[in-house]
Amino acid sequence: MLENEVSNMENLTSSFEQQVEQGNLFLHTSLSQQSARINEIESFLYAVIDILIKKGVAVPELLSESVLKIRQEIREKEEENFLDISLRADFGEEDREFVPVNCSERLPICKAVCCKLDFALNAEEIESGKIKWELGRPYFIRHEPKSCYCCHINQESKACNVYDHRPSVCKKYSCANDHRIWKDFDKMELNDEWLNENIKERKIKFTGAAIFNYHSVAGDKIDK
Ligand code: SF4
Ligand code: SF4
Repeated sequence: MLENEVSNMENLTSSFEQQVEQGNLFLHTSLSQQSARINEIESFLYAVIDILIKKGVAVPELLSESVLKIRQEIREKEEENFLDISLRADFGEEDREFVPVNCSERLPICKAVCCKLDFALNAEEIESGKIKWELGRPYFIRHEPKSCYCCHINQESKACNVYDHRPSVCKKYSCANDHRIWKDFDKMELNDEWLNENIKERKIKFTGAAIFNYHSVAGDKIDK
């Protein structure tokens, strides 16, 4: 009975999580489309300015001066617009030679540290819904904040819980020539300096756009 309840709870949590993931994917797709439109508007604006200059209606020096002034003002008010999203594109991957590695022999030493490395998912992996990504840092694969391991690893056996659906980065990965992992691959000597320096507890910070309340209609920014 208790087992059934736990299983139902897990299903509910998992379906809720999927909804949140899909919601985020939708939101980021919409924002990307908006960015594309802004780029298009920007091109037209530059074209109009170009024509005005050529027709002698605007003076390039005055225009540049104005642009610099306004840009500086926007920066000072921290009102610059950007969208911090990472999506992996696998170009030229097929050309890379795969070097097989004797993982089972190395596991007592490396403890599958490769599953602590950070990478962004590609569109296909996100859409599959099988791989979790950091909701606060789209679309990097999700890690357990304290252990730094990928959330799909079995903490005890260090096996991959989504082996058949694992990202192509994982499928093609070989640590044989990865100097972040091994100081000396043949002697199985880990690169502790790099690993200690770069693999640490992850804390997500809000570093995005400025926050506005209804005063923003009048252009007032709330103090953070
Ligand atoms: S790929 Fe390398 S780091 Fe990863 S488990 Fe195998 S031996 Fe360890
Ligand atoms: S998806 Fe699997 S193989 Fe890839 S990092 Fe996570 S646990 Fe490791």
